Amino acid sequence: MPLTGDQRDFGTRAAARRGLSLGLAALLLLAATLSGCDRSVSTSQPAPAGELHRVKYSREVMGTLAAVTALAADEATARAAVEAAYARLADVNRLMSDYVADSEIGRINQLPAGGSLVVSPETCTCLAQALSVAERSGGAFDVTCRPLVSLWKQAGRQQRLPTDAELAEVRRRVGWQQVRLDPETRTVTIAAAGVQVDLGGIAKGFALDLAAAAMRSAGAASGLVDVGGDIVTFGPRADGTQWRIGVRHPFRDGLLTELLLTDAAVATSGLQQRFHEIDGQRYSHIVDPRTGWPVREAPSVTVVAAAGATADAWATVFSVLTVAEGQALLAEPDAPPVEVMWITGDRSAPVIDQTSGFGRHIAP
Ligand code: ADP
Ligand code: MG
Repeated sequence: MPLTGDQRDFGTRAAARRGLSLGLAALLLLAATLSGCDRSVSTSQPAPAGELHRVKYSREVMGTLAAVTALAADEATARAAVEAAYARLADVNRLMSDYVADSEIGRINQLPAGGSLVVSPETCTCLAQALSVAERSGGAFDVTCRPLVSLWKQAGRQQRLPTDAELAEVRRRVGWQQVRLDPETRTVTIAAAGVQVDLGGIAKGFALDLAAAAMRSAGAASGLVDVGGDIVTFGPRADGTQWRIGVRHPFRDGLLTELLLTDAAVATSGLQQRFHEIDGQRYSHIVDPRTGWPVREAPSVTVVAAAGATADAWATVFSVLTVAEGQALLAEPDAPPVEVMWITGDRSAPVIDQTSGFGRHIAP
């Protein structure tokens, strides 16, 4: 979809233009020209001599659509790279999904107080990254949020807010310091009874990183992996240009802008994405561990980073923090290496904020 000059021309805290039409579409990222959401398709494009062969598949993975594109010297290599990517996505799901009872996370969540489990290198690395974001975000990102997420899911099903007693009981079991990780021995220890781990805020991005690495190892010269709108890219496109990624408008159909990325990841989070409603109020699937409540006024956040895990986890952080809190954190000397775009306001008056480096990624 072509963008108007107005929609592309946004600076820091540019009040959005009048005339944006209504309709609350999810803010999702899609690889606009290259990886549109065609279901279960497989395409293969032979290349002129000397150029790369392009293969693209779309399949359901982790309960969502995963589109994988590989460019390689020949078709067999491109296909093998795509298969390698799907195998890694499946690995992460098997190891880290909390819906899979015998996943490593499922087993951690059945440990008694003081209990330990030796985990795979993958789960160890992902958990280490998650704990580092937890610390750096002052606990806005919290891998022990699972009991809170479950409580609010149940509240949505029962259409009633949790009682103070229920909330207090659950909050006692939340706190990322209750999870200890020894990276040497890959041992996870649960410090207190009832503490549960949830990698939902980072595992998808981490899976993208593993998938991209597997594609490189399988011989792909470049590629793009898109799982439910979170995307990792590496190498240039067939014509040598950067990958073009569309950012959907949070308040209406169509794109807000397009990004150009190479060797970078992008993730998005926001209240428009997934939520439950109680008494007509929207409650996000992202909880604020500092209050125990789901995020209510979450901005739509798009984060660009070098790695998928970084982009995914920080998109969750900036959904918990207000725009001002997020900007304050990013102004600190050891700020995380991310570029961020926030969209707040409402349909009639959306407001866009962005970090100074975000504009570099916007397509001209
Ligand atoms: P998605 O991309 O799947 O929409 P996000 O990347 O925004 O989701 O992560 C949301 C998921 O992260 C929730 O479903 C839950 O599993 C987990 N989560 C919710 N709140 C937090 C939090 N404060 N810190 C870390 N993880 C969270
Ligand atoms: Mg996230």
